[in-house]
Amino acid sequence: MSLPSRHALVPFVSVDNMMRLVLHIGIEQMMADLAAEIEADFRRWPLFDKTPRVASHSDVGVIELMPTSDGETYGFKYVNGHPSNMKKGLQTVTAFGLLADVATGYPLMLSEMTILTALRTAATSAMAAKWLAPKGATTMAMIGNGAQAEFQALAFKAICGITELRLYDIDPAATTKCARNLADRGLHLVPCNSPEAAIEGAQIITTCTADKQLATILTDNMVGAGVHINAVGGDCPGKTELHRDILLRSGIFVEYPPQTRIEGEIQQLPDDHPVTELWQVITGAAQGRTDGRQITLFDSVGFAIEDFSALRYVHSRLKNNDFHQDLDMIADPDDPRDLFGMILRAGAESAV
Ligand code: NAD
Repeated sequence: MSLPSRHALVPFVSVDNMMRLVLHIGIEQMMADLAAEIEADFRRWPLFDKTPRVASHSDVGVIELMPTSDGETYGFKYVNGHPSNMKKGLQTVTAFGLLADVATGYPLMLSEMTILTALRTAATSAMAAKWLAPKGATTMAMIGNGAQAEFQALAFKAICGITELRLYDIDPAATTKCARNLADRGLHLVPCNSPEAAIEGAQIITTCTADKQLATILTDNMVGAGVHINAVGGDCPGKTELHRDILLRSGIFVEYPPQTRIEGEIQQLPDDHPVTELWQVITGAAQGRTDGRQITLFDSVGFAIEDFSALRYVHSRLKNNDFHQDLDMIADPDDPRDLFGMILRAGAESAV
């Protein structure tokens, strides 16, 4: 059946096409590009619509919607977090997202975002570390070697100049997988048998574990002066990774305080505990690291503006190539008031 002029076709980036796009651009280059896009959007932070994400919690996980708009373009992401999925052979985090034109409300692009979330999370972490980590940091401990881990490692290599990666996971098979995937990527890899061994000599500690509980991946005595902690895995009420005493010794940097106070490591602290917004460090409105002995902590939970930046970046890369398919997802009759007639005409056509 032909489909005469009643469709506004929407570009759709499938998982296959996202992988092709990532391979075409190069994974480290793409995360460096994303970090630049996210940083540019953090510089114009005040003009975005902002809201903590809309979360629907269950005993086993969470499903969330993450919307934002810069007044010209609107974006949202659907994302889940189910730590128990791994045991069923499923991803802990999956996502897709949409960009729309604020002037018409018409969608501009629909995209897979499971891969894009891993890329943007790692790009945001490395961007934050660029501003907060001790100068000249070359060694990172990577605790939690699951789906996000390689992305984190390569973003820190590309953006912060990390050369040595010390890996630890409670499941040695995860560390083996991570080391295998990162072989020949120009990183010196050191698989470790304990978190204590992993953090030895590391100027940056990334925690990226998944467990729906108040976990203690790092205890206070493990964290020495001057390190930067990139805490990625604590991103949900009742799901944290760091002992509270570490927080009390750290300069804490966050994305959007109203969301991080609900979801981040700082859910363990009183609501008035001082935190610094990362965008203000980037614009110069607030100070980043104060001295070489300060512990800096990026309490990452993932914010809608990072997804917006990532979606816009992907959208800008869809011209004159085949990294997308056109989706027939918006009914758009020639006469905008004749939606009903459009169905009748389709029926008449199919009867011929
Ligand atoms: P994953 O399930 O693929 O990997 C998690 C790994 O953590 C597993 O290999 C598991 O064995 C390990 N682990 C669990 N408990 C541990 C412990 N006590 N010590 C060491 N390792 C431990 O999950 P993923 O997709 O890699 O995501 C990791 C975490 O990051 C999740 O909690 C997820 O919700 C979070 N996340 C945060 C953001 C953000 O923006 N902040 C974005 C994406 C994912």
